Amino acid sequence: MNIDWIKEAYYLIEATISLSLSYFINTEKRIHILYLITSMILAYYVYKSSNIKTSFLKYLFPKKVWMSQSAFVDYSLFCFNSLIKIVMIGPYIIVGFYIAFYTNELLLEIFGFPNYSLGVTQTIILYTITLTIIGDFLSYIVHLLMHRIPFLWEFHKIHHSATSLNPITQYRIHPIELIINNIRSIIIFGLVTGFFDYLSSHSIDKLLFLGVNVFHFAFLLFGANLRHSHVKLRYPKYLEFIFISPFQHQIHHSSNPRHFNKNMGSKLAIWDYLFGTLVLSASTSKVNFGIPKENLNYNSFLSNLINPFLNPINKMSKYLRSIIKEKK
Ligand SMILES: [Zn+2]
Ligand SMILES: [Zn+2]
Repeated sequence: MNIDWIKEAYYLIEATISLSLSYFINTEKRIHILYLITSMILAYYVYKSSNIKTSFLKYLFPKKVWMSQSAFVDYSLFCFNSLIKIVMIGPYIIVGFYIAFYTNELLLEIFGFPNYSLGVTQTIILYTITLTIIGDFLSYIVHLLMHRIPFLWEFHKIHHSATSLNPITQYRIHPIELIINNIRSIIIFGLVTGFFDYLSSHSIDKLLFLGVNVFHFAFLLFGANLRHSHVKLRYPKYLEFIFISPFQHQIHHSSNPRHFNKNMGSKLAIWDYLFGTLVLSASTSKVNFGIPKENLNYNSFLSNLINPFLNPINKMSKYLRSIIKEKK
């Protein structure tokens, strides 16, 4: 019995390590080796144009960024989230196809067969554009809610408690946020896929919808890894109204209250522009990362995992104590 338990734990650890490492060779993941290399090339451009005195290697890999306490929290949460994916999330894409199926059925029931059906090329182009824009808008809305609703902020705070940024910080999220993000992606994927399945009269192989999204690929190729880094890659001003530059995302992580709840877009900056939360990179030269000091600290893996539950309990007991005191 005991041996079985040890065996299970061993397989789970093995699966967690191999899933974590697979991110470096999975073209859909931001930290795929190719995107890390293109990010380094862009970092070299920033290095050259900033007249930095140290060597490029020292500029790219400072100990205080990659070996900081904050970075080790990132690495451990990255691995822990792989474990959560194995145990809790599973092949969620099947759920996406279920939603697509029922969306298609519902549209057929309401509108009947469409008079005109889209061809394969038309479907791929329109589907990719729609999925990118609607997906990005929903990411913005969910991110906005994470910042504005105190209960959700407790979980999203984990991403913002990082005091130094490296590409793995992207995965520094609380498992609850991981689950919320997955649900968001499944719903959007299902609805948009179902809609285009209907418009193309059900004639396209479902697997086509899983193909590489050219916009996402371009986003990954053009320095997505620098968003969580110390490399200040800015875009020309006009472009920062359309796309969030890496430095604009670094401003999102700023500990300066002036920057709180700003630049919440994922790929596109237009939502921030429309909702008045856009900050251009030219307005800032230096940012410190992190959240304002609190009673609880966010320096360890465990504290980041537990604090979102502890914080509301602490606030509640403080509130109750103040009521009791008033009554006395
Ligand atoms: Zn945020
Ligand atoms: Zn971030």
